[in-house]
Amino acid sequence: MTSPNTVWHSPKVAKNKRHGKQGHKSCVVWMTGLSASGKSTIAHLAEERLFSQGIRTYVLDGDNIRHGLNKDLSFTPQDRKENIRRIGEVVKLFVDAGIIVFAAFISPYEKDRSNLRRMFDKGDFIEVHVKCSIKECLTRDPKGSYKKAKKGEIPHYTGISSPYETPVNPELVLETEKLDADKCVETIISYLEKNKII
Ligand code: ADP
Repeated sequence: MTSPNTVWHSPKVAKNKRHGKQGHKSCVVWMTGLSASGKSTIAHLAEERLFSQGIRTYVLDGDNIRHGLNKDLSFTPQDRKENIRRIGEVVKLFVDAGIIVFAAFISPYEKDRSNLRRMFDKGDFIEVHVKCSIKECLTRDPKGSYKKAKKGEIPHYTGISSPYETPVNPELVLETEKLDADKCVETIISYLEKNKII
């Protein structure tokens, strides 16, 4: 569904023209996983590596988006769905602008992630399951949020009072209890090279 009485205006500078000029393609590396699984850590390290090679990158991070664009949304399933939909639209613009986006969002529902995938051209959506047991996430708890959630101070907290649905067919699985963050970054970069994105 689109807003009534609107007409799509095709750009003169299309995505593939940007790719040709800058010497690399764009895509989204969508990182899904429990809070504290390592999404942000890996996303920022990966962007730093690519940025230093002259590649155009950006990180979109869950909490930051909820400070601005999505500050009106809660953590109910309906609001989580809308959260991911809006972020998907923003990411699409970045990818269209030629940028490699690292999107770090818990995105716990398979349906929301499969809706996202459908929004992108084939190969532009790279789903990465940042996998870590809830036991280890509870031990890490860098922001103290699990502690609060267990006391009932944060409602709808993924892994405690709200479900996390394991990705069905992600492009990559990074087991952050087995691989250190640098190795996880290398796995992502190898994937981008193998698929001729960079
Ligand atoms: P998320 O974005 O998934 O909520 P964060 O990246 O904010 O997670 O926090 C993950 C925590 O786990 C950090 O304190 C980080 O140093 C630690 N950590 C331990 N091992 C890893 C790993 N292999 N990859 C990423 N983070 C790790």
